[in-house]
Amino acid sequence: SICAMIIYCILALMAVHLVFRWRTIALHKRSVMLYQNVQEKTLELQLANKQLTLLTTLDPLTQVYNRRGFTDAVGKEFSKYKRSKELFSIILIDIDFFKRINDEHGHEAGDQVLIKFANVLSQCTRDYDVLARWGGEEFIVLLPHTQLKDAINIANKYRGIIRKEKFIVTKASLRVSLTAGVANIQDYASVDECIKRADNLLYEGKNLGRDKVLPML
Ligand code: GH3
Ligand code: MG
Ligand code: MG
Repeated sequence: SICAMIIYCILALMAVHLVFRWRTIALHKRSVMLYQNVQEKTLELQLANKQLTLLTTLDPLTQVYNRRGFTDAVGKEFSKYKRSKELFSIILIDIDFFKRINDEHGHEAGDQVLIKFANVLSQCTRDYDVLARWGGEEFIVLLPHTQLKDAINIANKYRGIIRKEKFIVTKASLRVSLTAGVANIQDYASVDECIKRADNLLYEGKNLGRDKVLPML
């Protein structure tokens, strides 16, 4: 009968509609899952990227920043300085007679001294200072919001702490000293010039017999 036909048609339409709806819901669920997956993977990649960047800015031996890490940090500080005159100081540090340690106790002992030296320095830097290995047995510290006079005092504090420290290497307990040059950005046109000045002062300190911080107060 016509009535049965109509009911049959309505039922068929309802079935089609249900199947369609079910498929839409399933597809939607799938797309939500895919989206979440992509988000998770993106976060993982971002984290891995951060870790990689960190690795390229760290010195593998001492675990303090390397030259690149320092250059990044000081670059940011220099932009801040140009914008708002927030000045900063730089301390360039060189271990005295380091070659002797290698010659007398071996390269391995030299490495141990470098590691300990970096650890000791890193414990006496404030948490907004940036300590880096500049190369070989040279270290550099960025001191944000620090006047020259205060930076010189800080460098002398490092010098005193290092002089008192015992450096235990295979079969020997060594003493080391440092020579440092200190400069403040406000006296120079660029970071490079500021570091160059610290380097010249460091060289002067070596000539004056080492275990010195220049300028002297
Ligand atoms: P000065 O007081 O004038 O600074 O004398 P110095 O002996 O400390 O300086 P010099 O530049 O003559 O020697 C530095 C030595 O540091 C030479 C180099 O072999 C050594 N050196 C550089 N990098 C490393 C390192 O990663 N490990 C070790 N063990 N030695 C290193
Ligand atoms: Mg040197
Ligand atoms: Mg040296």
